[in-house]
Amino acid sequence: MLTACHECDLLQHLPRLSGRGSLKCRRCGALLYKHRENSLEITLALSLAAMILFVLANAFPFLSFQLQGQLRETTLITGILELYREGLPGLSLLVFLTTIAVPFLQIAGMLYILLPLKFGKKAPEMMRVFRGIRSLQPWSMMEVFMIGILVSLVKLMKMAKIIPGIAIFAFLMLIFVQAAAASALDPHIVWEKWEKKL
Ligand SMILES: [Zn+2]
Repeated sequence: MLTACHECDLLQHLPRLSGRGSLKCRRCGALLYKHRENSLEITLALSLAAMILFVLANAFPFLSFQLQGQLRETTLITGILELYREGLPGLSLLVFLTTIAVPFLQIAGMLYILLPLKFGKKAPEMMRVFRGIRSLQPWSMMEVFMIGILVSLVKLMKMAKIIPGIAIFAFLMLIFVQAAAASALDPHIVWEKWEKKL
């Protein structure tokens, strides 16, 4: 396997690693490859968990406000529609893309690739989907959204009684599960299986 060091660009032949261990650059010592145990299974399990959390985060109330005896429930999508109605179509589109559309495409894409791989099959256009998922990465901003929510909650708490819903907890867990899935994935497994033409 010919690989370029991402730090110093030295091209080098990497030996095939069987089992544990890591490979470092011959010239600068940068970590080039680290074997992750059961990467495929762990990433698949985390992606399935992420999909369940995603559904919960979108199906259940996000926050409820009690103001002057009136109870108002909001979900992720009603919040986005509210922004649109307030005359902020650009912002509502951005929030929709970064907190719903992109995370969904990423989770669905991972399942699309990993489920067949687990059973020794290749999904059609697998590499295109894989590249797509990786290029979407900068557009997933659930954690930025969460920080925004927490900041406004602190301000709102003075004015109204706020009841957190199931969705806000699911959303919070989704952030961590997604991060864990991304770090559990060993992209070499996908590339290797692709090259083997299963
Ligand atoms: Zn190097």
